[in-house]
Amino acid sequence: MTLSDLGEFGLIERIRARFPAPQRAVGIGDDCAVLPQRDGQESLVSTDMLIEGTHFLRDDITPYQLGWKSAAVNLSDIAAMGGNPTGTLLSLALPADLTVEWIDAFLDGYAAVSAGVPLLGGDTTASPDRICINVTVLGESPSGRGRLRSNAMEGDLICVTGPLGDSAAGLKAILEGVERDADVQALIDRHYLPLPRVAEGLRLAATPGVHAMMDISDGIGSDLKHILEASGPLQGKPSGHHPESPLLGATIDVPSLPLSPELQRVCARLGWDAAALAIGGGEDYELLFTCTPEAERSLDVPHTVIGVIRDLPGIEWRGAEGPVAGFDHFRKP
Ligand code: ADP
Ligand code: MG
Repeated sequence: MTLSDLGEFGLIERIRARFPAPQRAVGIGDDCAVLPQRDGQESLVSTDMLIEGTHFLRDDITPYQLGWKSAAVNLSDIAAMGGNPTGTLLSLALPADLTVEWIDAFLDGYAAVSAGVPLLGGDTTASPDRICINVTVLGESPSGRGRLRSNAMEGDLICVTGPLGDSAAGLKAILEGVERDADVQALIDRHYLPLPRVAEGLRLAATPGVHAMMDISDGIGSDLKHILEASGPLQGKPSGHHPESPLLGATIDVPSLPLSPELQRVCARLGWDAAALAIGGGEDYELLFTCTPEAERSLDVPHTVIGVIRDLPGIEWRGAEGPVAGFDHFRKP
């Protein structure tokens, strides 16, 4: 058996089975690990890796964009818990022929999206050819405030904080060498310069009735499944992940998925399926959350209601035209 049989999530599950989370902590399975502190706060930690050839093409992404994206995808995992980022660590494996100008531009992008979150350390090494970047992000949240993936409840509305599919369409445009008019460029920018929804996450976590939350890295087709699997009959339990008992499901109203005007125009022009990109495409880094209908009415965070949590397993894609899938790093297409 190889990793392509096991799949990315099968591999993570295999690791998780050997290393159970310590008591009172949230370990493998959520956007961040959550470690209770003595002072009524919880520490949040998460890490993410970007590899040349897998996550970006050196000839296409600018160093500024790469620095931005490296920090942004990590800050997004703190946002996904409703936490406050307190610092990052940056580890770099770099080929010796990179220019100093390249590094400076990388750090400009990293600093710009970090917006005052300090860089506290890291590690540096030479790489034989490919660039490899690993960022670890630290954050904090008042105890019990952080929003897990495992708290979705029957009857919750399912919401997202912004448009879906732009990043996937931007990636498709890069890979297919589509001519870059203003609309296509806007989609590519959404792919390379994602905005971590930190302020939105903090406001959502402070709203009673907002239950489960995560950031959209693999596409809602895949990410919503994570919320449903983590919630289920043991909902609210901090240990996070109960794939053996997925009793909750969801109905998603596909025509209500928020699509940017740029995505709609590019899809109309090139014959691309906007809904498929919005559902199956990843790296939007918007927040996906569930909340009571009362909480939804009082929210002061821009959002779109896209569906509802039901007590029937599976996801019903109401109004979808084709099959629906998310992203997995090891699965064969
Ligand atoms: P995200 O997209 O939010 O960054 P991932 O899909 O990368 O999350 O990971 C899902 C969960 O699995 C996270 O809790 C992460 O910490 C954990 N995880 C991923 N890879 C590993 C690994 N190699 N060892 C331990 N935990 C891992
Ligand atoms: Mg995440």
